[in-house]
Amino acid sequence: MFDLAVVGAGPAGLLAALIAARKGMGVVLIDKRRDVGRITRACCQQLIMDDGYEGESVQAAAGKISFPANAFALEYGGPLQATTDMWYISPENRRIHFTRPGKKPIVTRFDKGALLRGLHEKAHAAGVEIYPAAVVYDVKDYNGWVELAIAGGGNHSLVAARKVIAADGANSRTVAAAGLNEGRQVISTGLSVIYECQGVAGVDSDEYRVYCGTAFGSNAPVHVYPSLTNPGVVNILVGTGRRPPEIVFNKFIREGRAAAAFRDAKVVSRSGSGFRMFSGPLATPHKGGILAIGDAAAYIEVEVQGALMCGWHAGQAAVDEFQGEGGWAKYTAWWRKAFPFFDPLALRAIRAGNLVGFYADDMLDYLFGLLEGQEVEGSYSPYRFPLLLWGAVMQFKDRIVRERPDVWEKVKKTAVLCGLEAK
Ligand SMILES: Cc1cc2nc3c(=O)[nH]c(=O)nc-3n(C[C@H](O)[C@H](O)[C@H](O)COP(=O)(O)OP(=O)(O)OC[C@H]3O[C@@H](n4cnc5c(N)ncnc54)[C@H](O)[C@@H]3O)c2cc1C
Repeated sequence: MFDLAVVGAGPAGLLAALIAARKGMGVVLIDKRRDVGRITRACCQQLIMDDGYEGESVQAAAGKISFPANAFALEYGGPLQATTDMWYISPENRRIHFTRPGKKPIVTRFDKGALLRGLHEKAHAAGVEIYPAAVVYDVKDYNGWVELAIAGGGNHSLVAARKVIAADGANSRTVAAAGLNEGRQVISTGLSVIYECQGVAGVDSDEYRVYCGTAFGSNAPVHVYPSLTNPGVVNILVGTGRRPPEIVFNKFIREGRAAAAFRDAKVVSRSGSGFRMFSGPLATPHKGGILAIGDAAAYIEVEVQGALMCGWHAGQAAVDEFQGEGGWAKYTAWWRKAFPFFDPLALRAIRAGNLVGFYADDMLDYLFGLLEGQEVEGSYSPYRFPLLLWGAVMQFKDRIVRERPDVWEKVKKTAVLCGLEAK
């Protein structure tokens, strides 16, 4: 019987296992992947640098990623690259240029594989027992201990632990099997794929582009940015609902309005992620001996930085819970304060950000044209970006009302959704 079983060796699970083991718990960490450092699920690998994002202001410097508000720092042996400029591009090549005051980075790119490998080594050295290539498919809570059913290498086995942390990501089977999803529904599903391509010229190392409009071959915006770890490789991220991503990607590089720059793109690798979007996060992410952390308990992704914060707090919470000192309750109080998806206004802002994809191409040309030539404050935060974008558009309210009343009707609704004054 282990003191603690952690399901999922992503950033949340690895750090939770490491902290609990360092504090003296007997920990087992189980992951379906064979190689923790190999990233199979799509991730853009960027830290969001906004001050106060998720209650933190992450700092990244050579050798270290720090979380001053949460009072911890992690050694990190991989490369870092600041992105200071983000461009939103419309079908007629109208461009909104986003920057931050003083050219502070909007995001800092990092190597998630290097981060996970570093944590994995430390967890191993701290005595965490690691079971790779093992899928947890069921969980039973016996009021005092928990049993996990695992499949791997053609075998089925059981693991028993006093406490369990479910850190198995956005489509968590452990959370579902533990009955924690009762009360929240799946409201949509989708798929994102990142294509790593050679043969795309002219994308600078510190820029990030977002192509918006159906003329590019995709209903959802297409994100383009250079690879941090593979020189000469450019990443193209497409998101789709029901359409196969391969069709959207091929349309973008061969037929879409930007095809001239991408036609020679040769895919060297790809990673995908399917997701089920729930109606909300887990407000109480624990039941009996089980605590859900990171994306497993979230509404939209907590991001790697949020997952690390979850792992940090959950490792300590497991020790407290094990000792009968209310660790799960303490974690829950922190969880509800740290993540903006518990704020109804923040949720509305996320939805407004997504609305860029619902404007007709000529409307995007018109709106992006209004902002062309100026630097608009940028952010990668899904909660703050919509406020900045639609706030900048709203400066032109009188002109939009006069020139494009049809566009104004849409903008007005979007602005109200974000909580911006639109009368
Ligand atoms: C398209 C896309 C782009 C993104 N871009 C960024 C970005 O730029 N920056 C950023 O910070 N974040 C980004 N994210 C989000 C980020 O990847 C996640 O929020 C973060 O990795 C969550 O960490 P986690 O530890 O909670 O879960 P995960 O990283 O998902 O880890 C879960 C682990 O559990 C394992 N697992 C799953 N099911 C089982 C099972 N049944 N049994 C055993 N093991 C299991 C998985 O193999 C995995 O190792 C992006 C996500 C997507 C989809």
